[in-house]
Parts: sequence; C-alpha cells; structure tokens
Amino acid sequence: MTKGKTGNSKFLKAYNETYILNLIRVNKSLSRADISKATGLSPTAAGGIVSSLIEKGYLCENGTGESKGGRRPVMLELKKNSRYSIGLDVDVDSVTFILMDIKGRVVFEWSSALVDNRPAAVASLAAEEIERVLSDCRIHKDKLLGIGISVPGMVDAETRRVVLAPNLSWEDADFGRMLREKIELPVYIENEAMASAICENWIGACKSVDNFICVNIKSGIGAGIFTGGRPYRGTGGSAGEVGHIVVDENGLACGCGNHGCLETIVSTGRIVEKAEKLIKKGLKSQLNEIENVSKVRLSNIVDAARSGNQAAGGLLEEAAGYLGIALSYLVNTLNPSKIVLGKDFVVYGDLVMDTLRRVVDRKALKRPAANVEIAVSEIGERSSTLGAAIIPLKILFGS
Ligand SMILES: [Zn+2]
Repeated sequence: MTKGKTGNSKFLKAYNETYILNLIRVNKSLSRADISKATGLSPTAAGGIVSSLIEKGYLCENGTGESKGGRRPVMLELKKNSRYSIGLDVDVDSVTFILMDIKGRVVFEWSSALVDNRPAAVASLAAEEIERVLSDCRIHKDKLLGIGISVPGMVDAETRRVVLAPNLSWEDADFGRMLREKIELPVYIENEAMASAICENWIGACKSVDNFICVNIKSGIGAGIFTGGRPYRGTGGSAGEVGHIVVDENGLACGCGNHGCLETIVSTGRIVEKAEKLIKKGLKSQLNEIENVSKVRLSNIVDAARSGNQAAGGLLEEAAGYLGIALSYLVNTLNPSKIVLGKDFVVYGDLVMDTLRRVVDRKALKRPAANVEIAVSEIGERSSTLGAAIIPLKILFGS
C-alpha cells in the first residue's frame, strides 16, 4: 500500500467514525443494518467502524430492536459516562460551570465567586474547580473532551485571544492558553453571545435554523450570528457587537466613544438606573411597589410592571422600542429567519414583545420583516454556559 493511500484511508475512517457517531447521536439508537443503510457503506465496512467506536468506548450495545424478518437486530447507542465536556461562563464577579456528558445531559452545574477577576486568577480558579469536581464525580481527566469558555467580550477570529472584555477590564488576554496550560486539555474560547447562539442551534429554538441571530441583553448587549448554518464571526471576530448600534444621536455617552448606543438605553443596568432616578425624583406613587427596596433590581421593576404599575411598564416598553429599532437594522441587513432574545430579556420579554414586534414591522423593510420570527429564549441565563459545554461535543460529532 502506498503512503498516500494509507493517509487517505485514515482520513476516510476518521470521517466515517465522526459521521456514524453523529448519526447515532441524532437518532439515539440504531442497528448496524440501519447504519449501513443510512451511510451507504457495506455492512462489513459499517460493522468495522462500529467495532472501532465500541473499542474506543464511545458506543455500546443496548438491547435488541424490532425484527424486520430474521433475527432481532442489536441496537447501538452512545455510551453513557464514556466522555464528558465542561463549559464555563466568565462573568464580572463569578464563573458558572456545567459538566455535560456525551449525550448532552447536564451532569453537574455549579458556580464560583470571583475575588480577583484578572485573567490569570480566573484561569487558576477555573482549573482548580474543574479538577475538584472531576475528582468529586470520580471522572478521569482523559474522559474529558475539552473545555469550552464563554467570555463577555470580543474574541480574535484567528488567535482566539480576548481582544477586549470591557466589563471584566480584560484587554488582549490569552485566557484560553492560560487555562490550557493549567488543565492540559483542549480549550475553546467563544464570545458569550456566540456561545448562546451555539446552544440555541444545538438544543434550543434554532435547531435546524440556518440564518438566525441570538441577542443577549444584560449588563452589555451582544449578538451571536449564524448564516448558512455556521457561526459568522466577521473578519476580526467582532461581528455581533450590536450593543453599539447608535439608536439615539443625542443620547448618553457610551464607553466606545459614541453617544446613544443601544447599550446605553437598553442594558439592564441602564433600566435599573432609570427606575432609581424616578424614585429619587419623588414619583413615589408611580413606583410605589419598589420605593422601599434598598437596591433596585430588574426583578423589582418587572414585578411592578406585572402588577400594573405604569411607570415600571413604561421603562420596559421604552427599552423595547429602542431594541426594536436596532433589530430592524439587523433584519434589513441580514434577513434572518429567526431572532432569539436571551439572558435578562427572558424575565420581561412577554410584557414587551408586542411593542418590539410593532417597531420592527414599522422600521424594517416589509419582505425581511415578514420573514423573521422574533422569540424569547426558552433557555435563558444558562444559554452561554450550556453553549460553551456544547463546543467540545460539536467537535467530536463534526457538526
Ligand atoms: Zn457604544
């Protein structure tokens, strides 16, 4: 056999293994005959690949299926406890972790407070936490496919360094490498909104949706964009910075140097600030449900709005109006079939969805506006941590 052929057949074997593994993930349980039929491989070739996957510990035989004449076929499925992945989401004052198994099930979920949120300190804490939980769960490190990281910042498309994460005060931080050196496992780093988009695409509202945008609204506002079924990160990795779309030329100064960016009006912090101002102005009757709260939280405003408080409802409606303007630009530019709104928006989305939809329909062109479904994420706060955990699985399954 020539060298070239060997190389080629190794490539083909790896390709077929990944393909069959994903086929079983999608279908949950298949027989060897099913696999042969679905792949077009001969029964012998399909059987050989299945044996190799069983040997590597990814698959197991589990009972027999329906007979289509003759012997009942042995069914194959992903082997529980064979491989795992970990996702971590870095926030300003805490890191949230999810340990996921090969079947995509959450095995363990925890978070850890950050005393020092500089990159090296976070990498040390993350490595310690991961080692501790693996030991507690009696999972050997070599069963871990890798670590996915979600950061609230811009990640360079090529080098995967964190270019800028303003809320964390990180600038040009090679956080992925820092963690990889400590944990000695594959590490994949992603922008938070893109991690959420990966989650929505894998298990959420955008399964089998090719062109969609996932917008996360909390202390910052960012979007994860999928086009043609693939993440769109842009030339330098900064695609999706929708928080800096200017929606009010005369608005407040933003950290980016502009005035009236979406983030300066619709971020959760800004909505809370406005509520605090209303209370200080003495408009007690308008926000009486929350006037006695020492520190106003979004949940206080949403509760007040739900119980019919007009001032509180007005704050959320106003935010939704500006969000609608920004979304109409995205609808016109990218013509997505779906926009999913996540994170803090999940808490009040149902209250303002009509306003939001009305503004998009008024501001965007008719055709792309008619094409787009706008929905509140059903996953919410955990989407980016889940998405981070899904990244190593996506690589294993080649999807
Ligand atoms: Zn800005």
